[in-house]
Amino acid sequence: MIVFAFLTLALGPSVQADLVILQYHHVSDATPPSTSTSESLFEAQMEMLEDLELEVVPLLDGTQNALEEDAIRNSVALTFDDAYESVYSTAAPLLEARDYPYTVFVNTDAVGRPGYMTWNQLEELASREGVTLANHSTDHGHLARKPDEPEDQWQQRIEHSLDGAQKELQQRLGIDTPMFAYPYGEFDSALEDHLSDRGWYGYSQHSGPIGVYSSPTRLPRFPMANAYGQLGSLKNKLLSRAFPVDAGILPDGVIPSNPPILEFPLPERLSSDRLTCFASGMGRIEIETLEDGMIRVQAPEAFNSRRFRYNCTHPAGDGRFYWLSQPWLDLSQPED
Ligand SMILES: [Zn+2]
Repeated sequence: MIVFAFLTLALGPSVQADLVILQYHHVSDATPPSTSTSESLFEAQMEMLEDLELEVVPLLDGTQNALEEDAIRNSVALTFDDAYESVYSTAAPLLEARDYPYTVFVNTDAVGRPGYMTWNQLEELASREGVTLANHSTDHGHLARKPDEPEDQWQQRIEHSLDGAQKELQQRLGIDTPMFAYPYGEFDSALEDHLSDRGWYGYSQHSGPIGVYSSPTRLPRFPMANAYGQLGSLKNKLLSRAFPVDAGILPDGVIPSNPPILEFPLPERLSSDRLTCFASGMGRIEIETLEDGMIRVQAPEAFNSRRFRYNCTHPAGDGRFYWLSQPWLDLSQPED
């Protein structure tokens, strides 16, 4: 028994590997800072991937491998939401020089508008080796069902937004990729069901890596805009490991009460003493261990924003961390 436990421990880190997805919008010094990564920071981030000898993989392959436990070491996928012009003019040449594959999530109604790529540019990108285009909805709407929205009206809106964009990418570019990035990272479990029905992966923007514990319709990505993508914290993100809790049992992101409660079981090999949890804008928050061994986390006061999250980490050995992120959505707050 002791030998078995030792072997499991020794083999643990090498048999499970995770995918870290970086999420970008603009790569530019001239666009809004909250959604932009400066060109120099972007180059430094790519340099760090190389220094850490991390393989940059296509998003679809990487996702499948991480979910199925086929990966043998951490890898990274690069994604760009909204198909902004700066991705075509600035990021694409830098990525091509490094032979890094990447994915652009396209909200189809915006294509050709000022600041966005044109259909010709997208067609050109799509023809390049290693570039994948995927669905980011037609209208970039807030797609979780609104509190006062009738069920049938919501269904129609979702079908238009999901299937309309998929169809347009198919008709214009011959692309039919089973991947969807939620606008604003907002989703509820009914929207997740729509993705499951279509056999699509759903990518959000709460942080954390993807591993065997992840749920295919609520896949995390690390936002990389200037405020979040600084090099000091990037290494921990790139080497992070998926928290060993089945994401399927985590609560729906739409909050029933404010501040919301997160409960999850802590695997026996982890210790609540070494678990650290944070809430958006509030720093570190208290952890409670319940009698049945469940962990209970609740921020000390109500949030006053539409989207926020709880992040929990636990040392995973070799200076690495298990990383759990729970996104929350308060539908009573105004849409942005
Ligand atoms: Zn977007």
